[in-house]
Amino acid sequence: MKRITFGLLLLLSTTFTVKAESSAHISKDFDEQLQYADKIRSSDPELSNTILLELQKHEELLTAEQQHYLKYLLAYQLTFQGTPDKGLKQFKELAESKASKSLKFRTNITIINTLANTQKWNEGLAYLSKALELLPSIENKEIMQTGLMVAANFYNQLGQYELGYKYAEKLNLLPINDRNLCLSKGVIIEAKINLELLAENSDEIKQGIEICDKVGETLMSSFIRSFLVRLHLNKQQPDKALNILLPNLEVVENSHYPRLIIIFYSSIAKAYSFKQNYIQSEKYALKTIAQAELLGASQPVVQAYEILYKIAEQRKEFQLALKYHVNYTKANKTYLDNIKTKHLAYQLAEHQAIEQETRIKLLNEQNKLLRVEQDLAQAEAENNKLFISLLIALSTLLIFWAYKSRLTQKRLRQMAEYDSLTGIYNRGHFTQLARSSLEYCQSSNLPLSCILFDLDKFKTINDNYGHACGDWVLKKTADVCRNIGRKNDIFVRLGGEEFCIFLPGCDLTTAKEFAELCRQEVAAIDSTESGFSFDITASFGLTSAKLSGFDLDKIIADADQAMYLSKNNGRNRITLFTP
Ligand code: GH3
Ligand code: MG
Ligand code: MG
Repeated sequence: MKRITFGLLLLLSTTFTVKAESSAHISKDFDEQLQYADKIRSSDPELSNTILLELQKHEELLTAEQQHYLKYLLAYQLTFQGTPDKGLKQFKELAESKASKSLKFRTNITIINTLANTQKWNEGLAYLSKALELLPSIENKEIMQTGLMVAANFYNQLGQYELGYKYAEKLNLLPINDRNLCLSKGVIIEAKINLELLAENSDEIKQGIEICDKVGETLMSSFIRSFLVRLHLNKQQPDKALNILLPNLEVVENSHYPRLIIIFYSSIAKAYSFKQNYIQSEKYALKTIAQAELLGASQPVVQAYEILYKIAEQRKEFQLALKYHVNYTKANKTYLDNIKTKHLAYQLAEHQAIEQETRIKLLNEQNKLLRVEQDLAQAEAENNKLFISLLIALSTLLIFWAYKSRLTQKRLRQMAEYDSLTGIYNRGHFTQLARSSLEYCQSSNLPLSCILFDLDKFKTINDNYGHACGDWVLKKTADVCRNIGRKNDIFVRLGGEEFCIFLPGCDLTTAKEFAELCRQEVAAIDSTESGFSFDITASFGLTSAKLSGFDLDKIIADADQAMYLSKNNGRNRITLFTP
């Protein structure tokens, strides 16, 4: 089976690999088989693949998550065993599936690695943002570390060294094994050198190389060495550069990682060109170009062509120099275009993130507004309800109060105007009414008469039959006389057992008839209703405005005088006032 070397990227995505111990694991339960196939996926891809294909035959027996896991591992095998396009397609499906967050995270970081390798920066950034979103929910520390390293490395490759540095630094916060420590050091050193935060004599670089050598990560230690070489060459220190490059060349050549190999070759070429050793310089520049044939334009290739055309120029081989120069220009343009593409990809992603953030903010604001509006509407509705209840309560109270007050007023008026025992006018109110009718009759030239009567020997009734019986007699007297009167007549209890009937518009003759009727009615009262048997009579005095004038007191006094004449003359009779 042909294996594609993904170098640093493979390195980063194979954090938990162990050597296959035996192939007796196929019969184990599905979870264990899957985990085992995962463990050996890059150290023994053949066995891993066999296990996976066996599991695939019984796919219907697996749980949904187990099926997702199987799909991940199969896609991994496809990617790293010659058909990365097929693998990528499967991974992308998995990234959209209902797989667990942890598996989706792993899927995303594998996709990112694949996309970085094929320089698909835009897409890579999209998956990176998905992975970073999932990152806080990842509990497995190893998976988390891998994720952080992939993120850091992706940003470094994109030329976004500050972000690369930021994510690699986060690894320091996690408990980390030596191997991961080496990888994270490598990513941090690359970022810091590019940010010009490290000098060639820095301890951090030395330590990084040591740690990686210690755990046998020669690929990463060689990368760190290449960063150091770049610093030396920038300072035109070719011997220092060569002292690093040449002793490590064999290891690098054996790594089968062309991107690292061309960095070494072109750096050697550059160092020799500083030393004006053009033969060696040309040799390594040509090696660079030969090795880079399938890789496309990169900084080492540009540098190699530059060295070559300058050497040819010096040798006055202008035809050759021109050819190299043309290639140099082409490679340089492609290289610069690549950088530009990376920047654009990053800017686009950033722009999209900002846009999304703005959109989310806007949506949040809208939601907030809606919520406020809803709250307001609800509060308003509640207020309205409250207001209405209050209004109802208030108006009920008001109506009740009005009703009560009318009752009270009516009662008060009754009390003020009427005699409580007999229900006819009392003296106070009578005075008012009598005066105004006197005025009216006087001004209208109408007759007016006044009948006054007093119950005879009333004290005896009280004394003989009790006060209650006396009251009953008073009521009965008022009742019988009231029924005789006309609408305009004013009937009043002047006090005690003394009554008066004021008759506006009524002459003396008619009044006398009235008085006579009254006297008969009173005398006709059947006292047995009271429980006793006794006679009830009253003595009457009669006068008119014509006889007494229009003064109320005078009229009453005259009628009273006539009434006393009735008493004196034997009671139960009517006497006309004689002036
Ligand atoms: P005369 O025929 O001379 O009028 O004799 P009289 O007993 O009717 O007169 P007098 O003035 O001596 O007595 C009036 C009595 O009426 C005295 C008082 O106790 C009684 N009286 C006054 N107001 C009331 C009342 O509201 N209810 C009752 N039951 N008795 C009353
Ligand atoms: Mg009396
Ligand atoms: Mg009396």
